[in-house]
Amino acid sequence: MKLLTANFLSCAVKACKSSPLSFPLHFKDAELASKSVPYNPILLSNLLPRLDWPALVTSSSELGFTLPQQKPEITPFTPTSSEDGDAVMSGAGEEDEKTLRMLHKVLMETEVVEGKMVCGSCGFEYGIHQTVANFLLPSHLV
Ligand SMILES: [Zn+2]
Repeated sequence: MKLLTANFLSCAVKACKSSPLSFPLHFKDAELASKSVPYNPILLSNLLPRLDWPALVTSSSELGFTLPQQKPEITPFTPTSSEDGDAVMSGAGEEDEKTLRMLHKVLMETEVVEGKMVCGSCGFEYGIHQTVANFLLPSHLV
């Protein structure tokens, strides 16, 4: 699973829904792989406002990435078309470009292949096998 996905997941145990400790889930024994994905700055710049930044900083550091403590300010790109029909961006400064490239690598290209995600509230460990996280709970926790 991608680091991006972890930003939208919290513990599925009912009693954890109201606990601030159940988000984000904490990576443990994570084995990472890097997968090449087409760079899409327009998608990224639109995604950025929806991210829970402090949670992302936490998850990233658990996987060995250091993100800035403050959410970067990126002006959302206006898609325009170049002559050959590819979407290009306008208004991208060099700093923005650097930030987006970094986010692309961390959010889109980093894949957790094996490992666990642990709830900080109840301690339940969700297994990740072959990039797929298992969110099925044992029946006594449902
Ligand atoms: Zn929990």
